[in-house]
Amino acid sequence: MTPPETSFVPSANIAQLKESATIAVSQRAKALRAAGRAIIDLGAGEPDFDTPALIRKAAQDAIDNGATRYTATEGILPLRTAIAERASALRQRTAGGETITPAEVVVSSGSKQSLYNACMALFGPGDEVLIPTPSWTSYYEMVSLARATAVPVHGKPECGFKVTPAELATSTTARTRGLMLNSPVNPTGSVYSRDELSALLGFARERGLWVISDEIYRRICYDGEAVSSLDVAESRDRLVVVDGVAKAYAMTGWRIGWTISVVPLAKAMTAFQSHTTFNPAAVSQAAALAALTGGAAVDATVTAMVGEFRARRDAAMALLAGEPSIQVNPPKGTFYLFLRAPGAGIVPEAGTAFARRLLEAHDVAVVPGAAFRTPDWIRVSYAAEIGQVESAVRRIIAAYRSA
Ligand code: PLP
Repeated sequence: MTPPETSFVPSANIAQLKESATIAVSQRAKALRAAGRAIIDLGAGEPDFDTPALIRKAAQDAIDNGATRYTATEGILPLRTAIAERASALRQRTAGGETITPAEVVVSSGSKQSLYNACMALFGPGDEVLIPTPSWTSYYEMVSLARATAVPVHGKPECGFKVTPAELATSTTARTRGLMLNSPVNPTGSVYSRDELSALLGFARERGLWVISDEIYRRICYDGEAVSSLDVAESRDRLVVVDGVAKAYAMTGWRIGWTISVVPLAKAMTAFQSHTTFNPAAVSQAAALAALTGGAAVDATVTAMVGEFRARRDAAMALLAGEPSIQVNPPKGTFYLFLRAPGAGIVPEAGTAFARRLLEAHDVAVVPGAAFRTPDWIRVSYAAEIGQVESAVRRIIAAYRSA
């Protein structure tokens, strides 16, 4: 049956919105799999581990104990208290005893919603927001949905694509209002050092910019935890820290993220959320609480998962080391490898063409760098079993040689 005709035209709000390239890749990979092809999917942006048993059990108990109703918009107090305590511990390492209170925490349905709340509350028409690039695809769209202008600031490949205050300064105007930070970085796997982060926060402070610091990958880092903005910021006056349970605890489907900000902003974001989605799922909040308060047992599972990611990274990098013509950004965190596509600098959108060829001719799904505004590159996720990662990297090398 043919679908009915429609006169639907997207509203001005979403007319410019682009489909998520990551989701598009995974849908194409699924379609090819359904057609019988043995696709290795390295497009995914989520850990391939199960949520730890202790957390799942806590959620089951919570359902039986009544976590089935609306909660406060900004999340249940025990969860906000646990988040505030962890954040205070980070803050107190450098900022002399400053305590973060539950009133500064807003819990949302995933850190994606937290980021969107922050963009909507802080930015509007006429504002410009600096986005170190390459970066996660949704930042550009969220800033645009807030009707502000996303300003990509490209980092240099030889510096792991990390940006410096001098690079930000060249894109800063009188209209610049915000800076999106993310470390460890999706898609490059780079991690800002304490000094680098401190310099960026200092720059933003001098210019009076709001900083949204997305720290969702902070615990997936191979040389100890990545530095948090809470740990180095001189002041939290214009700082919004975003985090969540998705990546560190393999809880992507539970949809819990949060912001830590000054109280007036927290109230504004709560009001916004109260009219859009209201509280995040009660049972997921109980699960997140178990993750944050699970102590050594939960921490051991995080450490084991990060250890497995490290082993995969090392295996992939060892294979790539035998092929020096492939330029790869050595990842220090996340679970992504960022590779320069063959023909980069000669063929336009070389990463898109290479990603397409990898999928159609070599049965490997990766995300084209165009999704992150770096069309000469591809992102390869190693959130897959180590044997699969190795086979896929061998296929990538073969595809590279035959390019
Ligand atoms: N921030 C970055 C940099 C991400 O890569 C992702 C997910 O891929 C998110 C935020 C969203 O995470 P969540 O599942 O908590 O919404």
